[in-house]
Amino acid sequence: MIFAIKRFETHDGDGIRTTVFFKGCPLRCRWCHNPESFSRETEIAYNDELCIRCGRCTSLCDASVIKDNKHIFDRTKCTFCGECIDICPRGAYSIYGDNRSAEEIAEEVLFDEIFFKGSGGGVTFSGGEPLMQTDFCVKLAKILKERDINIAIDTCGYVSREAIEKILPYADTFLYDIKAIDPEVHKACTGKSNELILDNLKFIDSKGKNIEIRIPYIPEYNSGEIEKIAEFLKGIKNIKLIRVLPYHKYADSKYLSLGTKNLSPEKIPTKEEIQRARETLRRISGHKVN
Ligand code: SF4
Ligand code: SF4
Repeated sequence: MIFAIKRFETHDGDGIRTTVFFKGCPLRCRWCHNPESFSRETEIAYNDELCIRCGRCTSLCDASVIKDNKHIFDRTKCTFCGECIDICPRGAYSIYGDNRSAEEIAEEVLFDEIFFKGSGGGVTFSGGEPLMQTDFCVKLAKILKERDINIAIDTCGYVSREAIEKILPYADTFLYDIKAIDPEVHKACTGKSNELILDNLKFIDSKGKNIEIRIPYIPEYNSGEIEKIAEFLKGIKNIKLIRVLPYHKYADSKYLSLGTKNLSPEKIPTKEEIQRARETLRRISGHKVN
């Protein structure tokens, strides 16, 4: 179950990459900019700001009614037939979630094989949390490895040790999120504690895999954790890069269109804050930081 495949990505690992976004995530980070990844199920999104009340969709589907110039949309009546997407002149609807076979996905991503080979890139499994669908990831990874494709796994780390062990032989790099060291802070930010995440990172490091750490920087949420994160990462040997990702609020309209409760913080970080966080991480951890 995936929700997107994006080509020519340059921030999801080395070189030019195609990123496959898996649906479903065990965490609920308050700042998540991919709320369409939360659920494992197919979902429909409707953006009321785009609707011009033309009535084309209401004439074909019971899920939509226009009354007093208001478009009332009942997503519980949706059967995901996709007809509204084809008929809407404003692109107000989207469906997230597609059950595809590993062979189909492999065929699609291998279209850009020449770019991967020329740039040192490859394919990134992202999400959501790809390792919630471990066996599928392994199946896809096996097909790609037969063509010697570089594979990066973008994970939140909140997965079983067994899942990590299964994907390890195929993963060239782990893109690994660290959000907080204090378990209580982590729980307040994501809904889950972080012992498993920190343990899994140590395990991956012990296997000598390349690691890129990703730290979303959220003022007043995890901004007080940077020194502790830096101290922890000092002990992880195989980190090639630490990336600080400044929080942004671009996902508000996605929450609205999915009917998902939006708990996103209001405050975005200043450039100076991000710079300070990067310097602290560089100084204490000794790793390369961007
Ligand atoms: S996908 Fe089909 S069932 Fe769902 S809202 Fe659109 S037209 Fe209706
Ligand atoms: S087809 Fe699109 S623009 Fe027309 S009423 Fe439906 S959602 Fe609105």
